[in-house]
Amino acid sequence: MSKTPNTDGEPRSPKVNPGDQAPPGTPGVGENLCRDCKGSGRIGDKPCPTCGGTGTVLEELGGA
Ligand SMILES: [Zn+2]
Repeated sequence: MSKTPNTDGEPRSPKVNPGDQAPPGTPGVGENLCRDCKGSGRIGDKPCPTCGGTGTVLEELGGA
């Protein structure tokens, strides 16, 4: 193994958008269409702030 200089120095943190209920990879959480932009990722001519422009949000599954 050779040493690779770490140039980006950023910790790997999962990006969580305002519409996400949990970080990616959380058990019991799955992707749903964003209600605010209806999956388009955009509201008007701007990226949807709720899903961060992805069109999907992470929501807990099987809630009552
Ligand atoms: Zn959205």
